[in-house]
Amino acid sequence: MNQKAFRLIVRGTVQGVGFRPFIYRLATRLGYSGFVRNIGEGVEIYLEKPGGDLSEFLELLRTEAPPLARIEEVDYQPVEPLGRSGFEIDRSSQEKSFVFISPDIATCPECLREIQNPKERRYRYPFTNCTNCGPRYTIVRRLPYDRPKTTMSGFRMCPDCRREYRDPLDRRYHAQPIACPRCGPGLSLVEAASGKKIPGGLEEAVRLIRNGKILAVKGLGGFHLICLATSRKAVKRLRQIKRRQTKPLALMARDIGTIRKYATVSSSEKSWLTSPARPIVLLKKKRELPGISPFIDTVGIMLPYTPLHHLLLKDLPLIVATSSNRKDAPIIKDDRLVGPELCDYILTHNREIAMRADDSVLTVVNGKPVFFRRARGFVPFPQAVPENLNSPVQILAVGGELKNTISIYKNGHIVTSQFLGDLDDYENYRYFEETLTHLKKLFSFRPDLVVSDLHPDFWSTRYARNLKIPHLQVQHHFAHSLAPLVEHHLIPDKKFLGVSFDGFGYGDDGQAWGGEFLLADLDGYERFAHFDYVPLPGGDAAAREPWRMAAAYLYRTFGKNFRPPRPLARIPENRLHSVRLMMERNINSPLTSSAGRLFDAVAFICGLAPARVEFEAEAPSRLEAAASRVGSKFGRSYAFSINRSTRPYRIDFSPTIMELVFDLEKKKIRPEEAARKFHLTLVRVILETALLARKEHGLNLVVLTGGVFLNRILTEQTEKVLKENGFEVLRPAFYSPGDESLSLGQITYALNKLKREPF
Ligand code: ZN
Ligand code: ZN
Ligand code: FE
Repeated sequence: MNQKAFRLIVRGTVQGVGFRPFIYRLATRLGYSGFVRNIGEGVEIYLEKPGGDLSEFLELLRTEAPPLARIEEVDYQPVEPLGRSGFEIDRSSQEKSFVFISPDIATCPECLREIQNPKERRYRYPFTNCTNCGPRYTIVRRLPYDRPKTTMSGFRMCPDCRREYRDPLDRRYHAQPIACPRCGPGLSLVEAASGKKIPGGLEEAVRLIRNGKILAVKGLGGFHLICLATSRKAVKRLRQIKRRQTKPLALMARDIGTIRKYATVSSSEKSWLTSPARPIVLLKKKRELPGISPFIDTVGIMLPYTPLHHLLLKDLPLIVATSSNRKDAPIIKDDRLVGPELCDYILTHNREIAMRADDSVLTVVNGKPVFFRRARGFVPFPQAVPENLNSPVQILAVGGELKNTISIYKNGHIVTSQFLGDLDDYENYRYFEETLTHLKKLFSFRPDLVVSDLHPDFWSTRYARNLKIPHLQVQHHFAHSLAPLVEHHLIPDKKFLGVSFDGFGYGDDGQAWGGEFLLADLDGYERFAHFDYVPLPGGDAAAREPWRMAAAYLYRTFGKNFRPPRPLARIPENRLHSVRLMMERNINSPLTSSAGRLFDAVAFICGLAPARVEFEAEAPSRLEAAASRVGSKFGRSYAFSINRSTRPYRIDFSPTIMELVFDLEKKKIRPEEAARKFHLTLVRVILETALLARKEHGLNLVVLTGGVFLNRILTEQTEKVLKENGFEVLRPAFYSPGDESLSLGQITYALNKLKREPF
């Protein structure tokens, strides 16, 4: 008898996704004996069978793999037969290497049916999960992914759960967070003021929310603050607690039908809403809900993603579900930090959160997602690196300062952390350190090299410097431009145009850049063109007070005796005067080419922005909302000029501001129309600059990045117009165009550099 045996290694996201039971069933079906086990780099399979040939197994391995598995690579080789009888699932080996772990996954349809069926033993059990769904990233402390290494370690399985856990044909076979009402975590309801437990559990929580109370509810990645979305009073109180008057609040809706009452839902938006990641999707408003997302035209809604949420929403069709935190601080995960200053009652449970993560946020533009925040449900999916960039060196990238993330690189893959917030807040900085420690443990990661932004004073840069290992620095907008290349596995063999528009990034001339056209390849860049510099009167204050930027652009356009148009008349004369003086005498007025600040100025001149904003991008989002009210038929734009007398070229918006003021003051056109014309002006600026770059350098690839491309109209129109003109357009797919993806671009830069100058 000709006994044949093979050893296979499967790499990809294959742990914690029901992969081993799947192999067990497949191997048994095809008559193999042998074993399967988790190893450091993925899953190892040993197969033997008389006269065995692998082709059928290999094919079914790919076509029938469990829904959450992502197979990246299968290596196999013939080995000496061991003479096994039967097929077994071995305990995980302790070998250490790079391994993938699944993000948290929304409750699957089978689990949902169980919690709704009174005959099931998990009827109304809020912690029901199986190998196809449930918590992952937020409960794992170390790898390999096994129960003792998760926050479920303290719960002893009951005999029923143990039976399911051990039965390879059960849906819960080796489901590490397996639980039931007898043995798993339980809920408790606490009155915030007294700290006393109160009876009634879930039913009582629902009743309290319905009566207008604010509850802190412990979810997967942290606490939400929850209240009735339709109660004006409750929403108002919630805003007072969060000290946020205008920043949009996210909603959770029972089902798509409920969402459709308040917002339009396209088929691709629906598929994102119902995807296993369950992000918040920014949808076009249909009906205004007071206090939820004032002044803008979208509303962020998600569907329930844990059994607890499903059970809450059974009797409450629509709730506010916003991260519970103090202003600008990270989401809270520990019970001891939730108190009466945040809520009336606390609905909590005794399963600890190992790693916090906010809800992810995206919107759909031209059929593809634009990520506003990449966190729960997407992290820590690995990003494979193109073969020719692989390196044995382990690299840490620490990102920027605002909306920060960390990325780590090891063995051909990049893992980018969840959104961490602004590092100038001390608690966020702690979160940054906490996350890095977590990633190090999860991926046995030890950096040989660190990459940071060019800015000398960013907290992330200082952190990198203090590591005392080799340290590379990458210019902000260059890092922005590189991120989509590695994501799309597109390594251009000639130069491309990196269009990078954002609020601020440190330039190599020490100025505040932000309206940049970079002629780049992986090795480096040259500044091809940029928005002409204007003063930032008052420095940082100018980013918070759009009227200052309006004054700066008017000063630039009309000279020092500019006549303040109507909105500026609201500003006290002495403040306006001091800003004029600052600019005239060049005091506390650094220069900027920021695109974000241009949006601020235009929004204010149009009368659409407050004098002082509550959150970044508030003025631009109002401008965008106004523009979208006009509809897409309106197609005119304003004049601008590209000054080509010196290099880099400078894009001058004085003609734009001049026409804009004329439009508003003399022609009395509606601010909405002016807003639309301004958006289309930027589209034309990008097109004309790209055409120039093509003419002079023969390039054809344009990369669109930077936080300004969170603007739907700008992204939609620019992508369309560039494609019509024969350009190849690249924008981020599963990462944010904003500063969240800087760390990804930083790693890309380092990998390319290592290729040329080995470590
Ligand atoms: Zn399930
Ligand atoms: Zn049990
Ligand atoms: Fe940026």
